[in-house]
Amino acid sequence: MLSCACVLFDQHAGVTNVLALVPTFRAMADHDFLLLVHGESTDPTVDIFEREAAFLPTLASVIEAVPTLRIVLEHVSTAAGVQFVAERARKGSRLAATLTVQHLLLSRNALFAGGLNSSIYCLPILKHENDRRALWDALLGEGAEGSPFLFAGTDSAPHPRANKEKACGCAAGCFTAHASLELYTEAFETAAAERNIPTAVWQRRLERFLCEDGARFYGLPLNEPRAIVLDKQEWKVADEMPFGSAATVIPLRAGQTIKWRIRA
Ligand SMILES: [Zn+2]
Repeated sequence: MLSCACVLFDQHAGVTNVLALVPTFRAMADHDFLLLVHGESTDPTVDIFEREAAFLPTLASVIEAVPTLRIVLEHVSTAAGVQFVAERARKGSRLAATLTVQHLLLSRNALFAGGLNSSIYCLPILKHENDRRALWDALLGEGAEGSPFLFAGTDSAPHPRANKEKACGCAAGCFTAHASLELYTEAFETAAAERNIPTAVWQRRLERFLCEDGARFYGLPLNEPRAIVLDKQEWKVADEMPFGSAATVIPLRAGQTIKWRIRA
């Protein structure tokens, strides 16, 4: 398995032509390995908000060259990305995508609200509000049994605060592992309320998104039915959390409340 292809597709790692890897992708398909892609163009002349969309033609070429390869477009963040995955998956391509809580809950407005908020600087960078809403539409537009090609993938990244706030605060990533399930639940609940989707429908869709569809795409058995119960109960997230012996990390929603809580 090639995990997060940030490196694979990073010019500094030497790979500038993804299609040169087709023989490797064929070998992966032959052994039923999955390709997990950080799908952004690395061309520095491409606008940072357009890099996911700019990568999609390359992804289409990979699919065309090796249609039997199972591919996950990790942390999809745009309307273009999620529409590409939906179209290809419905046509039978072995393509799926993961969604993070930060891309579901925040747009680029949050990145610049009151200043530059380095704790939520991540890649792919937070996108336009229309993109965020397109992710919600794709998730909940087809009811409880729709969109099995979209499932959870937190991409949670605990970068120490000192690396996020130094002269070049270039460590990209959001720390969400402290409350991922609760934050996904908030996103589903809010999106469902806007669309008048019944509670049982969005909660079933959430269950599949968190627990089933990813495992099915990977060909893994579902976990034993061990229930995680989430209560509708507000709690306050810490301003920062200890990280290692001397560092701290700023969690998503730091100092603010979350509406759901895992029952201990
Ligand atoms: Zn990535």
